[in-house]
Amino acid sequence: VDSPADALYIGLDIGGTFLKGGLVDGSGAVLTRLHEPVAQTSPDDLLRQIDGAVLSLGGSHPVRALGIGLPGIVDHETGRLSGVPNLPALAALKGMALGREIERRTGIPTVLENDANALGLAEAWRGAGRDAGSVVFLTLGTGVGGAVVLNGVLWRGKSGYAGEIGHMQLDPGGFPCGCGSRGCLETIVGIRGWIRRAEEGLRRRESSLAGRALEPATIVAAAREGDGLALDIIDETARALGQALGCILNLLNVERIVIGGGVAAAGAFLLDRVVAETRRRCWPQGFEDCAFRLASLGGDAGVVGAARVAMLRPLGVSAVPAG
Ligand SMILES: [Zn+2]
Repeated sequence: VDSPADALYIGLDIGGTFLKGGLVDGSGAVLTRLHEPVAQTSPDDLLRQIDGAVLSLGGSHPVRALGIGLPGIVDHETGRLSGVPNLPALAALKGMALGREIERRTGIPTVLENDANALGLAEAWRGAGRDAGSVVFLTLGTGVGGAVVLNGVLWRGKSGYAGEIGHMQLDPGGFPCGCGSRGCLETIVGIRGWIRRAEEGLRRRESSLAGRALEPATIVAAAREGDGLALDIIDETARALGQALGCILNLLNVERIVIGGGVAAAGAFLLDRVVAETRRRCWPQGFEDCAFRLASLGGDAGVVGAARVAMLRPLGVSAVPAG
């Protein structure tokens, strides 16, 4: 689905710390940007902040639609928000038809989307997946999010729970996960998993990590210097990702895997290992068909993805006409 290049959309990206926004045209170019601490105090403050952001970005421009990416699951059939972690002001809006409320307040057709889905859609449209037919996107941070974009269309599943790659179980006896299961991909490759293994390792072996701040960047740096514990953490991360991606390639035979998020800053050092581990765990042809890339849109991805969601808004979700 293409939109005229001069059509205008607003994309908002609501994270745990910042609200980012952009006025985005039909080609995906971000014309103006907004970046401010997200209102944490109350749901009303958050809604008022959204009103203000829309007003300041939209100005007197004819905005066709508003897309909002946020850390939660959105049921597109009911417009309701579920599964909202980490953001109290947003969690208080759980169960509410938030898109419709924002639409009522701003007068602009509004669509909500899970933040990882929005990021994946952006990368598939204008980023590292742009020339591939189908893309699986993974974002590696404290949480591990994912998105499945098939022939340019985001696969949401019935209630918006599709693409939750971080909760594929890799180790039935593994560490408990916030989702209620254990040994999920997120418990191994999420930032907390890196730190937990570093702390465990430091109790029983020598490592240059002793006394250093335990975070992915220092662990990657230590691994590059040849530290055994740090290398084991990277290798275990790569193996877990290879397990998950091997399953994904066998299931979907997509042409592109795109990996983003803070942990992906480890770059080729991690990616090369992930590719090698994936190769061992799927059909050779499925592996040959797929190219592996780091995300390329940087800080604009959430905003561009939210605007893209607005562009592709599902019929029937936005009943209120603009203006
Ligand atoms: Zn889980």
